Amino acid sequence: MLNNFKIDNETKSGQCKKGILNYFVANGNSTIQELAKEVNLSVPTVTKALGELLNVGYINEYGKQETGEGRHPTLYGLNPDSGYFVGVEIKEGFVNLGMINFRGDLVDIENDKPCRIDNTMESIEELCELVKQFIDKSGVNKDKVLNVLFSIAGRVNAKSGYSHTIYNFTEQPLTTLFSEKLNYPTSIENDTRAYAFGEYMVGNVNGERDVLFVNASWGLGLGIIINGELYTGRSGFAGEIGHMHLYNNEILCHCGKKGCLETEASGRALYRIVKERIKAGESSSLTQTKGNDFTLEDIIDAVNAEDPLCIDVVERIGYAIGETVANLINVFNPELVVIGGILARTGIFLQQAVNASVRKYTLNLVNKDTRLCLSKLNERGGIIGACLLARKIVLG
Ligand SMILES: [Zn+2]
Repeated sequence: MLNNFKIDNETKSGQCKKGILNYFVANGNSTIQELAKEVNLSVPTVTKALGELLNVGYINEYGKQETGEGRHPTLYGLNPDSGYFVGVEIKEGFVNLGMINFRGDLVDIENDKPCRIDNTMESIEELCELVKQFIDKSGVNKDKVLNVLFSIAGRVNAKSGYSHTIYNFTEQPLTTLFSEKLNYPTSIENDTRAYAFGEYMVGNVNGERDVLFVNASWGLGLGIIINGELYTGRSGFAGEIGHMHLYNNEILCHCGKKGCLETEASGRALYRIVKERIKAGESSSLTQTKGNDFTLEDIIDAVNAEDPLCIDVVERIGYAIGETVANLINVFNPELVVIGGILARTGIFLQQAVNASVRKYTLNLVNKDTRLCLSKLNERGGIIGACLLARKIVLG
């Protein structure tokens, strides 16, 4: 029964049940009286819906509320084992896999699983095999896996189920293909939006409803949350700040255009500039420890080990990111801007450069409204966000 998680959205009773489940997601265990007030329905209506949710196993009783004196109303909350959600984060040459239970607790996580990632059916098959193995290994009842969400870089239309940057060769929606191969309901989302949702739900967002999330990884993406909801744009392509044309630098971007922000402000840019400057004769501890064969992760480690060249390049990139964040603050007037992605692992080195640039280029009054911080979840944000988004899609 549980894998056919369908609480219809059409009837009042279905909407009431979804409202109750979403209230538990946001607030934890509650009494009937609290629920009735929050979902704006009568106590008898809520009592009936709760009874049905108890019967199908989605919620449990959690004892009595300690109220000091008088009656002690019963507390209800989500049954963590009534459903599971899987997130699959597709990176370059590897994937990260995660699973949460119905309450949102992380059940299992596997990072950096090597996987052929290219635009072929073989790649999709290898990816699906890894997902199957991950679910098998977790030992959960497979009938209770309610959704598998794939987090994919580039242009992703979550509504239509098509990915347009990778896996764009299939006639049918990618989600249909994934569901056929896996035998689970599946969904897809842009990687930065999934990461932004993770940060919103369990990261460095503390009640703010208008949030911008800058994903400074190999590329540079923006997750936009307006009044607590992810903003996708018409077709799911919103937030492509990395491809804003900002420079006349003659550097070709991987998107095919030139002079994109990403060519000067991203992990890819960090890697290129450090390589160029070392080649031009500048010294760095990197070449002593790694020779010329270093990775982006090595550069991040070198920054944190206080290598002057790598710090200098990260500061320059932070300043460029800050210029764009300042423009975004002027446009959106957000409560909070979170900077995440691999570059955020350089901590204060990146943040101070972003702060300096934001202070310089924002309108003073607008800037005063906005808190700026680094991601709390760091590289786990993407996979946690994918799992939580899978649950949101099911709960509606
Ligand atoms: Zn570009």
